[in-house]
Amino acid sequence: MKLKTVWSYLSAACLFLPPLAGCAPTAGPFVRTLDGPLGTVTTATIYDSLSADEAEQAFDALYERLMEIHDTMTAFTAGSDIARVGEASGVSPAEVSGDTFAVIQTAQEVSVLSGGAFDITIGPLVRLWDIGAPNAHVPLEEEIQAARLLVDYRTLVMDDARQSVFLPVSGQRLDLGGIAKGHAGDEAARILEAHGIEHAIVDLGGNIILRGGKPDGGPWRVGLKTPVAGETGYLGILSLSDGAVVTSGGYQRFFEEDGITYHHILDPRTGRPAAAGLLSVTVVCQSSTRADALSTACFVLGLSGGKALIEGLDGAEGIFVTEEKQVYLTPGLVGLFSLTDERYTWGAAR
Ligand code: AMP
Ligand code: MG
Repeated sequence: MKLKTVWSYLSAACLFLPPLAGCAPTAGPFVRTLDGPLGTVTTATIYDSLSADEAEQAFDALYERLMEIHDTMTAFTAGSDIARVGEASGVSPAEVSGDTFAVIQTAQEVSVLSGGAFDITIGPLVRLWDIGAPNAHVPLEEEIQAARLLVDYRTLVMDDARQSVFLPVSGQRLDLGGIAKGHAGDEAARILEAHGIEHAIVDLGGNIILRGGKPDGGPWRVGLKTPVAGETGYLGILSLSDGAVVTSGGYQRFFEEDGITYHHILDPRTGRPAAAGLLSVTVVCQSSTRADALSTACFVLGLSGGKALIEGLDGAEGIFVTEEKQVYLTPGLVGLFSLTDERYTWGAAR
């Protein structure tokens, strides 16, 4: 579900007031939209009192870092860390940057925790389906099964000392599409902190990072978009001061063939788009990297498996929306999330 922050507490005048140029500190918000890195539109909003120059410096540093993450973690550009690991599959380990290694480690942890519902080696299936590409189509069954046989996170060999990664079977590929934006969110938070910024929101196309609550001390109010393609309204509002709010849903990227919708979150067990009865899953935790991988995992696992996974973890909470338009919360979110779309109802075990 693409999330959008609800700026309801801002007056329209505030929104259209341009920041004053120069060095004198001025109250935010300062807003910059960054189009491109990680295949998404990122909007960063800073609410601290800063000079316009200071805000520009923070935005520039943020943009540069997002581009770096894009370049090292995309599977689609030759020479990227992820592409090199794939090209060396079946032959030799490939060394990767410390940053990439850490993200692969978290991805592997979530692969294990979810019993492979999230699978860091999903690359061959992601390439085969190529969902999001203009000519995406349903592959042949034998192609799906051949790609599926290459997907198995348990075969991945990681060497901490060398910071190398090895895929032992030729043709295996990593894919960080389900976690890289999450990592970018954590990096965005780190950069804002390094610039002394205390109150900010970064929206990385559905991955939201909240810092410090509103300047008046209250929590941010985040609107969760309804999990249906083409709709622009809100499902409900989440009140939260700090942390990451990450949503996975079948409506985010998909194509249609013969009246059937095929979305981008694949079930490694079937090799096909996950069909576990959910419209979306939102995961809330401090680490955006973890929230991102967990939301993808939960979408594949479905309501009961996903909820059990989240409830078994410290510091993670979830919002599950089923195809029957029922909404389920993990206990830590009760009272923090309010449903505003009347077409949706609370599931029994809220
Ligand atoms: P997200 O939107 O974060 O749920 O991630 C979806 C993206 O993750 C897809 O576009 C793929 O690149 C990748 N992906 C799809 N299915 C899986 C899976 N089962 N495990 C790990 N990554 C996946
Ligand atoms: Mg994800």
